[in-house]
Amino acid sequence: PVDRSPEIQEARLKLPVLAEEQVIMEAVRENECVVLCGETGSGKTTQVPQFLYEAGYARAGGIIGVTEPRRVAAVSMSHRVAKEMNLSTGVVSYQIRYEGNVTKDTKIKFMTDGVLLKEIQKDFLLQKYSVIIIDEAHERSVYTDILIGLLSRIVPLRNKKGLPMKLLIMSATLRVEDFTENKRLFRIPPPVIKVEARQFPVTVHFNKRTPMEDYTGEAFRKTCKIHRMLPPGGILVFLTGQAEVHSTCWRLRKAFPYRPNKQHTDPRKAKRKKTVSLPRIDLDNYSAQPVDEGDEDRQAGIDDDDDGSDLELGDHPEETGQADPSIPLYVLPLYSLLSSEQQAKVFRPPPPGARLCVVATNVAETSLTIPGIKYVVDCGRVKKRFYDKVTGVSSFKVTWTSQASANQRAGRAGRTEPGHCYRIYSSAVFSDFSPFSEAEITRRPVDDLVLQMKDLNIDKVVNFPFPTTPSAEALVSAEQLLISLGALEEPPRQGRARLSCPITPLGRAMAAFPVAPRYAKMLALGRQQDCMPYVITVVATMTVREIFEELDRPVSNEEERSRLAERKAGAAQRRRLWAGQGQSLLLGDLMVMLGAVGACEFAGCTPEFCEKNSLRYKAMLEIRRLRGQLTNAVNAVCSDAGVCVDGKMVPPTETQVVCLRQIVLAGLGDHLARRIQAEELLDPKWRNGYKTPLLDEPVFIHPSSVLHKTLPDFVVYQEVMETTKMYMRGVCVCVYW
Ligand code: ADP
Ligand code: MG
Repeated sequence: PVDRSPEIQEARLKLPVLAEEQVIMEAVRENECVVLCGETGSGKTTQVPQFLYEAGYARAGGIIGVTEPRRVAAVSMSHRVAKEMNLSTGVVSYQIRYEGNVTKDTKIKFMTDGVLLKEIQKDFLLQKYSVIIIDEAHERSVYTDILIGLLSRIVPLRNKKGLPMKLLIMSATLRVEDFTENKRLFRIPPPVIKVEARQFPVTVHFNKRTPMEDYTGEAFRKTCKIHRMLPPGGILVFLTGQAEVHSTCWRLRKAFPYRPNKQHTDPRKAKRKKTVSLPRIDLDNYSAQPVDEGDEDRQAGIDDDDDGSDLELGDHPEETGQADPSIPLYVLPLYSLLSSEQQAKVFRPPPPGARLCVVATNVAETSLTIPGIKYVVDCGRVKKRFYDKVTGVSSFKVTWTSQASANQRAGRAGRTEPGHCYRIYSSAVFSDFSPFSEAEITRRPVDDLVLQMKDLNIDKVVNFPFPTTPSAEALVSAEQLLISLGALEEPPRQGRARLSCPITPLGRAMAAFPVAPRYAKMLALGRQQDCMPYVITVVATMTVREIFEELDRPVSNEEERSRLAERKAGAAQRRRLWAGQGQSLLLGDLMVMLGAVGACEFAGCTPEFCEKNSLRYKAMLEIRRLRGQLTNAVNAVCSDAGVCVDGKMVPPTETQVVCLRQIVLAGLGDHLARRIQAEELLDPKWRNGYKTPLLDEPVFIHPSSVLHKTLPDFVVYQEVMETTKMYMRGVCVCVYW
């Protein structure tokens, strides 16, 4: 029996999903797989695991597993459910890529979908679990799709073996045909249960004109207007990324200052921040490569550790209006990479007398329900990473969202009473939106997935029951890359038919590392010349986006300009220093990364050191965690490797640098670029450009690279990203002896 507090019990009774408990549990009892659809906020994520628990699904030692595509949701939902059930976090726990609080008593486990995929590699039958809930299936994240495909086979297998297991797929939209009407996936279509949410009407207001550029400015003005003119009720603003969220929060706080009681700040907090120790990582629980989750944040320019109480932020150039402290606004940011404590603030009631205003990226669209929202301001856009299917060139683009997403956003306003949604675009623009967002699997390279699947002995990846199959092009180029990395064998040809390529022992070793195959290859080779700690560091650094502070931001006054110029000069100088001389300079940007991490760790990885050296503190912390995790993974794969995370890493020797470069080339071999010679200059714009096998246009070395002035004849690069030009990132010299 669960002992809930009266307040919790009362709140639960208001949730629409509670009325369906019987229906849901009966369907689960009678079917292997059930699909549950219900509006965001209807109580699926917090209540359904409790139903299963109370029906005894965790009784015989089995765990109720819940997967979430976002780390944010896994953490905050596990806390919420533990609290509702009055159970400790040792019983209702979570596991995300780097951290978790799972114990041997865990009965309900929230995790990211990548974590569960990794567990399937260890135990295909997932014997620990009695039920798996795939939550937020409508988001169509790559790992969610794959998990559904795998579980469609695992569940019948378990039941055949007399080890019963259930699968529940939960979605916030009714668009579930990809799961239910896909005969390859489920021969007998699973029953679909719809939860009628008590949704209040939301009046949608379109702008007459659509601002093409300054939509954040328009969102700011609209929010100010709502706050000045309209009755009480929380405001939720949808923007596309962390930088926009922060600058808008800043402007709103400035316009409607709210002064918190400073005495509430805990003086110990400041101290705690500085002493970060290497986390202990449970080897059974590390996840596959992280989902693109948070990508929209990673390209951020501004990255402060704003805790919402610090209002002394100095002069802001854009400030024009008069600050009005008579109507305080309690402004909170919300995005994926925000710490869990910061995120938790949105669930608490705002201070008395102040209106709540949450400025969010699309994390607030479906995974988190913020209480008390009456007004939604929707910019209609979303930031996504796009990949060119052939060349692999990627870029972040802000595009229009889909109609389904815009409607989800509007729906956030009608949870507790009738609400209003202000779309800062016209109805004509809306009618041009695509009806639904595409499944992620159709939009990104799949080399990591193909390797993971081969490691699960899924031979013919094309025949896998994907809810949506990736394009043939993407599958072919993934196989080609894996063959060239030595992870798959070149298939024998039989007539004209291409047989499937079997995985090699190297491929198996690579699949054990939680990074993309290129980097896994580097780790697999890293044992030569005692290079492993360096390879681990380089790989960790390459997989964490943007370790340097963005110094190319727009400035508005002379003073700021000169301060920024000074910082830039300082940063360039330090990069040259970190790059070293001779052999190490040939490692180029990768040596700079290695030097930066080494110097930062030597100084104890403090926020002060990062600030002084224009490094992103959060990125450095993430690298530190990843180094710990990769070190464990390497030790697990080759038990005699005996590597440990060396806090104070000494710089590599000349021989080690040479070896390191060869290892890097082995992973990036197909990312070769040749400098365009004078006689080939067809266009003056091609000056200092490089030719690559796949692209017609030239690519360039970014001015911030240490190799920008050297311009070596041959280089390899980590990736090409299109911003103002096609720029190579992570450039390293490639010399033929
Ligand atoms: P769904 O999964 O259907 O979108 P949830 O189970 O996430 O719905 O949410 C149900 C209710 O629980 C919502 O009204 C939400 O506001 C509330 N809730 C969720 N998390 C918390 C939390 N950490 N604190 C307070 N209320 C919460
Ligand atoms: Mg949910």
